[in-house]
Amino acid sequence: MPELPEVEYTARQLRAQIVGATIRDAQVFWERIIGHPAPADFLAEVADREISAVRRRGKFLVLDLSSDLFLSIHRRMTGNLLLLPPGWEIDTSLREVDPLAWSTRGPTFREAPIDGQRAASGQASTDSRLKPITENETSYCRICFNLADGRRLLFTDPRKFGRIELWPCAGEEEAFRGLGPEPLSDTFTPERLQSALAGRKSTLKTVLLAQEVVAGLGNIYADEALYYAFLHPLRRANSLTIDEIRLLHEGIVSVLTLGIEHGGTSFSDYRDLWGEAGDNYNHVRVYQQDGRPCMRCGTTIERIVLAQRSAHFCPTCQKLTEVSIAE
Ligand SMILES: [Zn+2]
Repeated sequence: MPELPEVEYTARQLRAQIVGATIRDAQVFWERIIGHPAPADFLAEVADREISAVRRRGKFLVLDLSSDLFLSIHRRMTGNLLLLPPGWEIDTSLREVDPLAWSTRGPTFREAPIDGQRAASGQASTDSRLKPITENETSYCRICFNLADGRRLLFTDPRKFGRIELWPCAGEEEAFRGLGPEPLSDTFTPERLQSALAGRKSTLKTVLLAQEVVAGLGNIYADEALYYAFLHPLRRANSLTIDEIRLLHEGIVSVLTLGIEHGGTSFSDYRDLWGEAGDNYNHVRVYQQDGRPCMRCGTTIERIVLAQRSAHFCPTCQKLTEVSIAE
């Protein structure tokens, strides 16, 4: 699942491309991808809106629209955004030919036969891409935003867990209810982390995944932050000393910042705006590194399962004492 760095990286890519563009209209191919409001209202409201800003809140990608609306996009397990240059056409014939296959795969997007003008305009918007977009990458499109300049912003999502919502700006609090502080903002301080951990008896790993404690952490960066801070994932969250909390705070900020610098962590499904994989997987220290030596001490990294999630840690660097064990 994309976490804060992956979403932030996509937001930065998208910001450079689509701020100032206008959404002419949208086509939805899987209605349940729209979480709010009802699909018909969503489609009516989103048409002819200018995209005024792109930002991120926790793991949500946010597109501010003219006047006083915003789109929130949560990719969940397998959702990705893909920006097609002008000149790509939608083929929805599968809907009639094979409705079952359609419900899984959605429409097909094809690059129209090139004429001079299209080739030139397409070139400009694919400059930052290393390889051309393939038809295959456009599979599983659930919603397509058609921009007035001919480009298309696709949300692809094989497993259909992603959600897109449209809200008035006044409803932002409701849209993001339950989200804690942004870890890379000034509001996230060691003191704030201390008070968030104070009442919690469950394990550190579980607590770090709770979005109300700190927004945007998931499995990867929680494991990495705990490793950074020499803390065992099964430590009871309220058992930390202030020095340990300071180090954990530093670890959270540090691993997220590095993750963004590396363009996010890629595993099976994550792709950036151009359909390319991030580089951070080459930089993780413990996540999915079980069986390999710890980079600090050489001990073999272990993997445990708690609450149906795995945790990866170094048993030497991240010791668990009986007194600190979670109930
Ligand atoms: Zn170690």
